[in-house]
Amino acid sequence: MGALSNAEVGLRSTTGSARYFQPDAETMPREQLAALQLGRLRDSVRNACEHVPVQRARCDAAGIVPDDIRSLADLQQLPFTLKSDLRDHYPFGLFARPCHELARLHASSGTTGKPTVVGYTAQDISNWADLMARSLHGAGARAGDVVHNAYGYGLFTGGLGAHYGAERLGGVVVPMSGGSTERQVALIMDFRARVLCATPSYALAIAEVAEAQGVDLRTSALEIGMFGAEPWSQAMRLEIEARLGIKAVDIYGLSEIMGPGVACECECRSGLHGWEDHFLFEVIDPDSGQPLPEGEAGELVITTLTKQALPMLRYRTRDITRITTAPCDCGRTHLRILRVTGRNDDMLIIRGVNVYPSQIEAVLVGRPRIAPHYQLVVERRGKLDHVTIEVEAAPGVDASSYGDVSRDVAHHVKSMVGVTTNVHVKAPGEIPRSQGKAVRVRDLRPKGA
Ligand SMILES: [Zn+2]
Repeated sequence: MGALSNAEVGLRSTTGSARYFQPDAETMPREQLAALQLGRLRDSVRNACEHVPVQRARCDAAGIVPDDIRSLADLQQLPFTLKSDLRDHYPFGLFARPCHELARLHASSGTTGKPTVVGYTAQDISNWADLMARSLHGAGARAGDVVHNAYGYGLFTGGLGAHYGAERLGGVVVPMSGGSTERQVALIMDFRARVLCATPSYALAIAEVAEAQGVDLRTSALEIGMFGAEPWSQAMRLEIEARLGIKAVDIYGLSEIMGPGVACECECRSGLHGWEDHFLFEVIDPDSGQPLPEGEAGELVITTLTKQALPMLRYRTRDITRITTAPCDCGRTHLRILRVTGRNDDMLIIRGVNVYPSQIEAVLVGRPRIAPHYQLVVERRGKLDHVTIEVEAAPGVDASSYGDVSRDVAHHVKSMVGVTTNVHVKAPGEIPRSQGKAVRVRDLRPKGA
């Protein structure tokens, strides 16, 4: 049975009476915000230095004590923290609270070596819920909305982060997690979900399964998608919006800093508001470590201002982006992080050209005769890296024309990204579908080479 849209059954529209979830914080004048940040920065440095021996030793070595922090510019004297620090001090070495004072532990799947473990006090969890609720509200979600949460639950922060935020907002949460895609489609229709939380690649997998079942999700109650946890292109946004009949919103976060909700697009969708009352954002030159002027692309560095359990000083995210403090039409005063192009670790160097998988995605998605499912296979031949793009033909495209499709794709990747690739067109359904974070790159290069 076809579900009616929320508008058809007379439920509130996205323009609810309250414009902001936390109006005072979200629209705080920037001067006041800076004063708040300075006080919190000093507290956060004190928390780290008093309770984390590693951080104290580093601050000592840099010759800085918390009381030296007299302006936000003094931030630049602080040492960086790297992802490897979390591994090197596994599991709790960077925590500023003993384990029995924590309320939650999360951990990332360690693809190489030990996982990275992050901890939260009850207050940290509460702040996280607030910021995630702010993010959902900014994207147009409101109390009473059914929120279908297809982020993975468990040690990954995506599922529980979205869950607590949607509850804090006053939403009706469907704690679906990833997988059982047919069932996801049925429940989205039957429970009349207005908001979908998922990775963008999994949202696309849900759309595909729905289409195969003859279910048109464009007629469902879904209106908003909160998509994150992997880089995705504007082309992918348009594809998802067309197939699900929704507005797709980009949300950013990382477990080392908090989890989802560190930054999120508002309804203007011209950059992601980074919540500056809880975090300090910098962009640095990834090679020299020097701060870059506003607007220049570089590595995003985040310092936590309120985290009790795991205060992070100048954490290098490895995400490449730009920031702007220009006013946003929504009235929020917090800076905006422009779309994250990719993570430093994901960058491929193909014959001397730096390429992010999302740049190739931008060429693939929406091209005629191919479906938006792809993987990049990287191999070493001699001294050079070679990339093969495996991409699926769109349903109905005759196998006899795959060679022609392949040449067309290779030509467009060459002219738009500037690299030569092999393109292998596969039959529909042959590229693995993700249920969480998509595997975009299969790296067959020898390890440590
Ligand atoms: Zn805005």
